[in-house]
Amino acid sequence: MQLKTILNQCHKFKSFVYDQVRLVNLNGKKHIEVDVLPRRNGKAICSGCERPARLYDRLNKRRFEFIPLWGYRVFLVYLMRRVDCANCGVKVEQVPWARGKRELTDTYQQFLAHWAKKLSWKEVAISFQTSWEKVFHAVEYVVHWGLEHRELSGITAIGVDEIAWRKGHHYLTMVYQIDAGNTRLLWVGKDRTVKTFLRFFRFFGKERSQALKYICSDMWKPYIKVIEKKAGQAIHILDRFHIVAKLNKAIDKVRAGEHRQMQKDGYEPLLKNSRWCLLKRWENLTEKQEAKLNDLLKYNLTSVRAYLLKEDFSGFWEYVSPAWAEKFLDRWCTRVMRSKIDPMKKVAKSLRAHKPLIIVDPIVKTVIGSK
Ligand SMILES: [Zn+2]
Repeated sequence: MQLKTILNQCHKFKSFVYDQVRLVNLNGKKHIEVDVLPRRNGKAICSGCERPARLYDRLNKRRFEFIPLWGYRVFLVYLMRRVDCANCGVKVEQVPWARGKRELTDTYQQFLAHWAKKLSWKEVAISFQTSWEKVFHAVEYVVHWGLEHRELSGITAIGVDEIAWRKGHHYLTMVYQIDAGNTRLLWVGKDRTVKTFLRFFRFFGKERSQALKYICSDMWKPYIKVIEKKAGQAIHILDRFHIVAKLNKAIDKVRAGEHRQMQKDGYEPLLKNSRWCLLKRWENLTEKQEAKLNDLLKYNLTSVRAYLLKEDFSGFWEYVSPAWAEKFLDRWCTRVMRSKIDPMKKVAKSLRAHKPLIIVDPIVKTVIGSK
């Protein structure tokens, strides 16, 4: 059987045919190329209005990446044409296997996005010899395609989150639907600025934005600002995950600083290998880590005091009554402010400043499932 035959089974287009298939050796790396030709009687489609149009001229050959086969990358090679459209003028034709200027076929994007649900995007990129950015575009494409073809009504709760990628400060903003029993990724955008998040609301639409009841996010200012502007009616909640992450970051900072200082002063390296026993929840520690923690607790270290403050804070989540939760938070913040541990004080200040967003009715807590 030929590769052409298989392609005609799984990836067939009415107005195009597969021609030659070859294994190409490029700088010692082999890949498969498949020529695609327009059918002689097939009409070219205008990319402006998506209607058939008269042929104008031919451009350059373009390569579109397809699903890899036996470890070889696969490319469809096609000589793009331009059309002279009665409505739009001279335009590049639209091909049915890829959108716009994309280098990846729709099929390959769906393939990558499928794996991106199971593996980290970086792992997907490595596994299929592609870049992180292409995996990102694939997910974005599939999410947007899904939205165009999917019901968006009845969304009452969303969560916004960011992920960092690459070294340095590159972020993506991800928006999820987090209604009880219905959690899904709704939108992905580059960066985590006011503009990024505004783009989400533009896409989501005014009517749907104003029907939102709950929005969950971290304390990132641009998000808070946009939420106030675009969905002021919704209850904005700072979620537990983000608060715990902030506490852990503070402890990490305290620990690293203290460890460095102790080394400098020539003390026993007590804090060596202590990172995870201070960051993990107590019940998740391994036996070895637990022993290490018990050992550390004997010393009056700043790291230990910071750790104990964090552990105390977990009591906050047990409160059912908002009034008692508030009292607890106030007391905790006062203690931290007196602790003289700067990174922890920073967290306490931030929690105080956002108190109304943290103290929410317990009913809300049950509506919002965990992400
Ligand atoms: Zn047109």
